[in-house]
Amino acid sequence: MNLELSEEQEAVRRLAEDFVAREVAPHVVAWDRAEAVDRAIVKKLGAVGFLGLTIPEEYGGSGGDHLSYCLVTEELGRGDSSVRGIVSVSLGLVAKTLASWGDEEQKRAWLPRLASGEAVGCFGLTEPGTGSDAGNLATRAVRDGDTYVIDGTKMFITNGTWADVVLLFARTGGPGHRGVSAFLVPADTPGLTRRAIHGKLGLRGQATAELVLEGVRVPASALLGPEGKGFSVAMSALAKGRMSVAAGCVGIAQAALDAAVRYAGEREQFGKPIASYQLVQELISDIAVDVDAARLLTWRVADLVDRGRDFATAASKAKLYASEAAVRSANNALQVFGGYGYIDEYPVGKLLRDARVMTLYEGTSQIQKLIIGRALTGVSAF
Ligand code: FAD
Repeated sequence: MNLELSEEQEAVRRLAEDFVAREVAPHVVAWDRAEAVDRAIVKKLGAVGFLGLTIPEEYGGSGGDHLSYCLVTEELGRGDSSVRGIVSVSLGLVAKTLASWGDEEQKRAWLPRLASGEAVGCFGLTEPGTGSDAGNLATRAVRDGDTYVIDGTKMFITNGTWADVVLLFARTGGPGHRGVSAFLVPADTPGLTRRAIHGKLGLRGQATAELVLEGVRVPASALLGPEGKGFSVAMSALAKGRMSVAAGCVGIAQAALDAAVRYAGEREQFGKPIASYQLVQELISDIAVDVDAARLLTWRVADLVDRGRDFATAASKAKLYASEAAVRSANNALQVFGGYGYIDEYPVGKLLRDARVMTLYEGTSQIQKLIIGRALTGVSAF
């Protein structure tokens, strides 16, 4: 694994850093307080190529390798996790999965629109009764001639109220994960309604929703991958998704480090900058080690993906470590800021609120440990 970025990769990273400085940073506090990111950001993300990264150019994508994708995700996460999540879901979970599992017609229908930001995708796996135990989902899709009729409820769906297409998982067969199939459901299909979820601890600007499906009829051609293979579709999406979440968490930890170092140099107590106190330096150095360790674990996943190697366990390790590190780092940075860290005019409180969900979604920390444990022992504990 080469730890030196190529000129191209460094240029992509700088492009993302500049994008955040121009299009995101000036609005972060306002979007967080208003509980709404400006939807115009989607077209801007598309125009600069960030929604088409790793998608082949023949389908409207901007190509590139997975390390470049992680660099962009990290910079977006450093700026605003709500914006990072738009890309991680619409591109990372939906477009990339479509590129891997879709037939030619499905790819032509959706990929150019998703890559340009003309359309937004969301990923509908979680339900009110099934989160970690996703293979037991209850949403049903019943075959009726050339169509399927879908009924059920999906919970906590990122991009839910914005999405034009839902990558939806529903039961077409018997119990357990073998009875699950994946569908591409246009969000304007009659019978699909969405309810915005408010009051989130973090990611306040992000459009999170509950989706209710009542007699939603889609053609059989909406099936993504073979019938009964939906759980494999979901797990392949989440394995790469965990790399993206990990990269976003590196961004949070890096933002915490930048803020803590800056503030420690400016703030004076007892007649000296607080940076001169050993206990403050300990907080800062703990963050710095977490940033490096989380980034290296994340880059290793990108390297494995780009070389066509198995990466699922490495992705779980990176997601587990980086998400816990993001929470720790934001919390340490808040300590450096003292009381000012508790006020949203300063960045670290939001970093902590945004970081907190990272140990929960795309598989909780406990589930990542079970995945890693299963890979090591050959025994599934869940
Ligand atoms: P549960 O599964 O009920 O878990 C509760 C607790 O029990 C956790 O601590 C968990 O680790 C623990 N636990 C459960 N089973 C075990 C076990 N076998 N061993 C040990 N501990 C266990 N989902 C989507 O499909 N699409 C999205 O876009 C999406 N976006 C989200 C955005 C936000 C802001 C949030 C909060 C959630 C989102 N989710 C999304 C859902 C998310 O993936 C789930 O919340 C997550 O998988 C956990 O499921 P749960 O909340 O039902 O918790």
